[in-house]
Amino acid sequence: MGLLEVKDVGKRFGGLQALSDVNLSVQENTVHAIIGPNGAGKSTLLNCLIGKLIPDTGSVTFQGQSVLGRKPHEINQMGISRIFQTPEIFGDLTVLENVLIPCFAKRDGSFRMHAFETVEAEKDLNEKAVAMLEDVNMQDKLQMQASSLSRGDKRRLEMAMSLVQDPKLLLLDEPTAGMARADTNSTIDLLKEIKEKRDITMAIIEHDMHVVFSLAERITVLAQGTPLVEDTPDNIRDHPKVREAYLGE
Ligand code: ADP
Ligand code: MG
Repeated sequence: MGLLEVKDVGKRFGGLQALSDVNLSVQENTVHAIIGPNGAGKSTLLNCLIGKLIPDTGSVTFQGQSVLGRKPHEINQMGISRIFQTPEIFGDLTVLENVLIPCFAKRDGSFRMHAFETVEAEKDLNEKAVAMLEDVNMQDKLQMQASSLSRGDKRRLEMAMSLVQDPKLLLLDEPTAGMARADTNSTIDLLKEIKEKRDITMAIIEHDMHVVFSLAERITVLAQGTPLVEDTPDNIRDHPKVREAYLGE
């Protein structure tokens, strides 16, 4: 059984069947990409995984437990973390402070900043946050204000904020959308480094085929709300159905 199992999921918006018969299994420790033309249902599917939408039919389980009906923060606490299209960071805070916030959130389930309980606990969290920032090569920028970072560094910071919570599954929604080629390549490198260093599974929704083929080990192609094919990148590349869905051939 996969880490994440999507079974027979359907979702309708009024007269539009946005998803139907979606079956998907994301295996532990793989990078699984979900691709498909505009309007294929990728964002709708992602929203069903993180509790923003509840499917009309089917089931979604993570480590054998249903995520349906749970609130987004509860799903996050189960070990699913999401990287947003636009980095969600606290611009007025320093880089280090940004990474400390999810450490607290993880501990007490809320985003309330409160006094440190003990000096020991403070030291532990601080060390954890600094180590995380070293992992994403931001050790020289701990005291910089987050709003002054480059786009690529904001992405690194956001990644650190997610990873410091030790997620089992990282969901990435077009992580390189709107980026220049250099930032895209540095994001690809960063994700590869993270994958090598950690016991983590990634599900990535992506338009940019360069990113998909650089990272993915499995690819599911969605078209008109339903999976068209799931296979390895090599087999997907020249798949006639995929060429048809994408290129109208
Ligand atoms: P993708 O992310 O693959 O581009 P979406 O999941 O955003 O596709 O959309 C799938 C289909 O569902 C589209 O036709 C879109 O217009 C429709 N859709 C998405 N969200 C809503 C909504 N909240 N209400 C009505 N229709 C929606
Ligand atoms: Mg979308």
